Amino acid sequence: TSSAISGELAEAVNTEVAVITPPPVYSQIQVINEDKEFSNNVNAYLQKVDLLSAGLNYHLISVFGSQSTGKSTLLNALFGTTFDVMDETKRRQTTKGIWMSRAKQDRILVMDVEGTDGRERGEDQDFERKAALFALATSEVLIVNIWEHQVGLYQGANMGLLKTVFEVNLSLFSSPNKSLLLFVIRDHIGVTPLDNLAATLTADLERIWDSLIKPNHLLDSKITDFFSLQFTALPHKILQPQPFSKAVNAIGHRFELKHDENYVFDKSYHRNVPADGWSIYAQNVWEQIELNKDLDLPTQQVLVARFRCEEIAAQAWERFENDVNPVEGMSGLVAGLGDIIGPARTTALEIYDSQASRYTPKVYEVKKKELVAKIDTKLAQIYSHYISILHKIALQKFNSSVASELGKPHYTFLDSIQTAKSETLDTFVEAATEAQIAGTLLSFESELQSLTYDIEEAVSRLRALEAKKLGTRITRRVTSDLDDKFPKIYKTPSEDLWDRIVLTFRDVLVKSLANFEVEKDGVVTYDLGLGGTAAEVVIEIDQIKMEAWKVLYRKMREFSKPDSVLIRLREHFEDSFKYDDKDIPRVWKPSDDISEIYSASLKSAMLLLPLFATARLANGETVFPDPEVVPALERDEEIDIEQFPILLSESQKLPIQSDLKRIADSMYVDAKRSTIQSIRQ
Ligand code: GDP
Ligand code: MG
Repeated sequence: TSSAISGELAEAVNTEVAVITPPPVYSQIQVINEDKEFSNNVNAYLQKVDLLSAGLNYHLISVFGSQSTGKSTLLNALFGTTFDVMDETKRRQTTKGIWMSRAKQDRILVMDVEGTDGRERGEDQDFERKAALFALATSEVLIVNIWEHQVGLYQGANMGLLKTVFEVNLSLFSSPNKSLLLFVIRDHIGVTPLDNLAATLTADLERIWDSLIKPNHLLDSKITDFFSLQFTALPHKILQPQPFSKAVNAIGHRFELKHDENYVFDKSYHRNVPADGWSIYAQNVWEQIELNKDLDLPTQQVLVARFRCEEIAAQAWERFENDVNPVEGMSGLVAGLGDIIGPARTTALEIYDSQASRYTPKVYEVKKKELVAKIDTKLAQIYSHYISILHKIALQKFNSSVASELGKPHYTFLDSIQTAKSETLDTFVEAATEAQIAGTLLSFESELQSLTYDIEEAVSRLRALEAKKLGTRITRRVTSDLDDKFPKIYKTPSEDLWDRIVLTFRDVLVKSLANFEVEKDGVVTYDLGLGGTAAEVVIEIDQIKMEAWKVLYRKMREFSKPDSVLIRLREHFEDSFKYDDKDIPRVWKPSDDISEIYSASLKSAMLLLPLFATARLANGETVFPDPEVVPALERDEEIDIEQFPILLSESQKLPIQSDLKRIADSMYVDAKRSTIQSIRQ
C-alpha cells in the first residue's frame, strides 16, 4: 500500500540523514601485547583520537568474561569499535593482549581483553587475573559478560574471576573507590525474567564477598560499598539478530544519556588520572601487577601527578625561557620590558595551570610553587640586570647633562646640579617602574639608592672642581692685591715690616672671603654657593686659605730675591750716603768726614739684611701660616713649610753683603775722588 511505501520512504530519508553524519570509527591500539609489554604509543594514540588533552573529561570501560563468549562482538556493536572477533569459519584465535579503542559515544575509551579459552594452563589463568586487575585499576565501568546458562553456577569460570577481582579491589583501594559492574547476560531466552537472574547473581556475589578474607577495618563492609551493580540481558545474536541489535541500542543509551535512569557513569568511579597522564599511570600499574607487587593506587596517582606536573612545568618553563630569551642579553634600554616579561610569566603559568591543575592538588601546588619560584628568580635576574643598565645610562645622562649645564655662560652651580639630578632620577624611576610586573617582588629600591649615591659622589667631585675654580679666582685676586700693596711696604723697611705685611695679607684674605660669609646666630660660617655639608665647606674654605698662604709664601720669596734685596740695600745705602738729613744730595767738601758717613750708611744698610732674610714680627716671632692650613701646606710639594719664614740662607746672604760692600766702596771712592777734583779745580 501507498502508506506502507510512504512509511518506507520516510525511513529511507531518516536513514539518509543518519548516513550523512555516520558515527566516527576509530582505530585501536594494543596497550599490552602478547608478551605482556606495555605499549609506548598510548599517548600518540590518545592524541590521534583527540583525547590526550581531555583532562579528566573522558571515561574508561573494560570488559570481563570467558573467551569466546561474544565480548568483542558486544563491544563492537555497543561502541562502534572494531575489535577482532573470532572468525566462525576458521575458529582462529584472535591476538592475545589488552586492546583499547575510542568509542563512538562521547569521550569514551573501551578496553577489550583477549585471552585463551582454556583454564587448564596456569599461564593463561595468570594473564586473565592480571588483565582483570589492570581493568579494575583503570576503569570506571566493568562489563561482565556471562551466558545465561552460567547464572547460578557458583563454580562457573566468571565467578572465580570475580572473586579475584573483589579480593584485589580490597587491597587496591584502602578506602572505597567505587566501580560499576555491568552484567550482560548473553543468549537470554526470556523464560527466566531478568530480575530473577539478577537476584541470583546478586546473591552469588554477596556470598563471594562474605567469603573473602578482609582487613580488619573492612570486616563489616558490603559489596555495594565498593561496587555498584547493574544487570541487563541480550538475546542470541545469531538466532535473534533484530531483537539483539535493539537491545544493544538500549544498552548504548546508558553510556550516552545522562538522564537515563541507568546512566553508567558517576564521578566517584573516575580514577582521576588526566588523559595526558593515563599512559604513565597505566604503565606503572601494569608494571606493579607484572612484578606481582601490591598495588597502591593512591600512591600511583601521586607518582603520576608528580611525573606529569614536572613534565608540564618543564614545558611551561621552556616556553618562558623562549619568551624571555630575546631580552636576556640586552645591553641598552628596552621599551616596554614589563610588557615582554610580564606576559611571559603569565603564559607559562597558564600553560602549567591548564594541564597540571587536573592532578592531585597537593602535587600540583608544590610543583607550581617551584615553577613560580624558578620563574621569579629568573625574572629578578633579568630585572636586576636591566635596572643596572638603567643605572649606567642614568649616570651617563647625569654627567652629560651637568656638563652641558655647566658649559653655559651664566650658570648657578646648585640649580644646574639639582635640575640634572632630579631629571636623572625621574627618568630612572620611570623606566624601572615601567619594567616591573604586578604581583611579583621586583624592586628597584636598592638600585635607586646606589644610583643616588653615585650621583652624590659625582656631585661631590663636581663641587670640588667648582670650589677649585672659585679658589683660583680668589687666589688671582689675592695675588694682584698683594702685588699692589707689598712694594709700598717694602719701600719703608722697618722693624715692623712683617707685621705690616702679615696684616695686609690677612686684610686681603678676609676681604676676598667676605662675599661668602654668612652669619647665623652670631656664628660666622661660609657658603660658597656650591651646597655640600658644613664639613665639606670648611675643607673648601681651608683650601682657598691655603692657596692664599701659598701666594704669600711665593710673594715673600719674590720680594726677597737676592737681587731685589741687594737693590734695596744699595738704595738704602745711597739714600743715607748720598743725601743729607734734609734729603738734599751731598756735594762732598774736603771738610766732610766721608769715612764716617760711609761707615754709618753701610752699617745701617747691612742691618736691613736680616729683615729681608727672615720674616720675623716685631715681637720676635717668625711669620707662620695659621694652624688650619698647615696640614694642607705640609702636603704641598712646592712648599717647605719648615722654611716658611726663611727667605735667604746664610750662603745667599754673603754675596749680598760683599756685593753691597763693593758697591758702597766704589761710591766711597767716587766721593773721595770728587773732593780731590774740586780741590784741583
Ligand atoms: P570473545 O572472544 O568473547 O571476544 O568472543 P567473540 O566476540 O570473538 O565471539 C566469539 C564467537 O561467538 C564468534 O564466533 C561469534 O560469532 C559468536 N557470538 C557472538 N555473539 C554471540 C551471541 O550473542 N550468542 C552466541 N551464541 N554466539 C555469539
Ligand atoms: Mg574478543
